[in-house]
Amino acid sequence: MKISDAQACAGQLAATSDSPAADIELLLCHTLECSRTFLFTHRDDPLTAHQQAQFERLIQRRILGEPVAHLTGSRGFWTLDLEVNATTLIPRPDTECLVEKALELLPSQAARVLDLGTGTGAIALALASERPTWNLVAVDRVPEAVALAEKNRQRIGLENVIVSEGSWFEPVAGRFELIVSNPPYIDPDDPHLGQGDVRFEPLSALIAEDHGLADLRYIASEARHYLVDGGWLLFEHGYDQAVKVQQLLADLHYHEIGTAQDYGANDRITWA
Ligand code: GLN
Repeated sequence: MKISDAQACAGQLAATSDSPAADIELLLCHTLECSRTFLFTHRDDPLTAHQQAQFERLIQRRILGEPVAHLTGSRGFWTLDLEVNATTLIPRPDTECLVEKALELLPSQAARVLDLGTGTGAIALALASERPTWNLVAVDRVPEAVALAEKNRQRIGLENVIVSEGSWFEPVAGRFELIVSNPPYIDPDDPHLGQGDVRFEPLSALIAEDHGLADLRYIASEARHYLVDGGWLLFEHGYDQAVKVQQLLADLHYHEIGTAQDYGANDRITWA
């Protein structure tokens, strides 16, 4: 089997994946330990028998639905290559829109920034890499997530992030210029939970009571005690939750409330 033959296996993933060709490329790069560019410049290179067997095993697991990020153990987010495992949410491209908004809301050189429910560390590490003068605290309740975020921090070599274990604000002291969170926000009855990658992600990272709003509401309520005067709270939320999130923020007397869209033109990010 040549690299080009392996790429032609994309059809096998048509029923499983929205992006079969991209999945194949990532699985091939993982198997061959090479870049995507290499695939295109070495199309006629043969796979060794060992590589072919490994690649075919990965394809079979992908056909059964396992996310590509779990098969390769990594996921690109912002400019970073993050280690990923089944203990946290897989970082989504749409969450980059939250990173972009955070950088825009807070142009200041020195700031304390808190990321609640950090998972792989994606948001905190992206912000820390863009703003070396910020000090970030990244919190997660799940010990395995804390270990993963800390591992990612060390691999990237960022000194301006502290990863702490605890439930939301529990391990946190003092006040922040910016609090960000991509908390669980899916309604426990949402049929979307039975489809695609989410089936392989921990429910604790996905679902929240009260139609997905419970954690957003809790964080918004508590954040008032942890924000400096004029500080910003910035959330990712469900595609259909913007009006409800705006309302709950207004009820808590937040102001300058705004919402932005994700890459798919869904209202996805709200700040106040
Ligand atoms: N956006 C993710 C999804 O719909 C969920 C992320 C989350 O719950 N924070 O799959």
